Amino acid sequence: MPDGATARPPGEVDLHMHSTASDGALAPAKVVDAARAVGLSAIALTDHDTLAGVAEAETAAAPFGIRVVTGVELSAHDGAKEIHLLALHVSRPSVIESRLSGFRDARETRARDIVDKLRRLGVNVDLQAVMEEAAGGAVGRPHVARALIRGGHVRDTREAFDRFLGAGRPGFMPKARLDVSEAITLAHSAGAIAIWAHPGQEGRRERLEPLVSHGLDGVEVRHPSHNAEDIKRLGALCDFFGLVPSGGSDWHGSGEGQRTIGCMHIPPAWLYQQDVVVARRAAEEVA
Ligand code: AMP
Ligand code: ZN
Ligand code: FE
Ligand code: FE
Repeated sequence: MPDGATARPPGEVDLHMHSTASDGALAPAKVVDAARAVGLSAIALTDHDTLAGVAEAETAAAPFGIRVVTGVELSAHDGAKEIHLLALHVSRPSVIESRLSGFRDARETRARDIVDKLRRLGVNVDLQAVMEEAAGGAVGRPHVARALIRGGHVRDTREAFDRFLGAGRPGFMPKARLDVSEAITLAHSAGAIAIWAHPGQEGRRERLEPLVSHGLDGVEVRHPSHNAEDIKRLGALCDFFGLVPSGGSDWHGSGEGQRTIGCMHIPPAWLYQQDVVVARRAAEEVA
């Protein structure tokens, strides 16, 4: 157990992280090992556009009594803005699998388009290198970044995003995205709750109101990108709208400095509040 882990209050959880099923660096079982090493009682695996890592995580977690919440991170648009939603507590994966598969196909098309753009800029990266980095998982910009590093075009991921892949940079391609109201409905159809991931400064009452009217269930209050003021404001907005709080590290498994699994210190009570909403929703469906 690493230094400091003994100071962790019992039962802490982490409800946002990625594995090799999308753009994380570690296989789902290794993510569970990391969760165990820091003493977490539950994790949500929230890969981009896929549930493929969850079964392996559950198998690895079961002997240690660590709970795995089935999750997926969806990219949507809210007007002109991109917004990420976490569908947490998925109980009917088969209902959304064909949609997720479509999003993953769109990611491959986009990866090809990004590679074409980069090649036109004189950056000789090829699609095969990118797809090797993705290794069968949902492909995204971090895989392009790794291929760029491997090809000696950039030193690190930060440089890859700053020079080429970030919004407004010459290799940027938007994802084929669904409308946020559709994304919320999609989450509900799978028995999940819809959480606005890392809203940051955008998380304000005016912006939340329409999302709540579309059925948004909660907000990611604690995330590494949030400052103390964000956390306070988002917590108050949860109280105001009757939303459940969520939080997590958005850990991708390596090279993220201060961002480590469990770093947001999410209390188990937040997960319990989510369980209550999920149970209430299920009861309403039966009635
Ligand atoms: P994509 O889903 O292909 O749009 O890629 C989004 C992912 O890229 C995020 O989940 C992050 O893991 C990563 N990412 C986004 N912006 C940056 C950045 N500026 N630097 C490093 N990684 C980033
Ligand atoms: Zn990611
Ligand atoms: Fe995100
Ligand atoms: Fe994420």
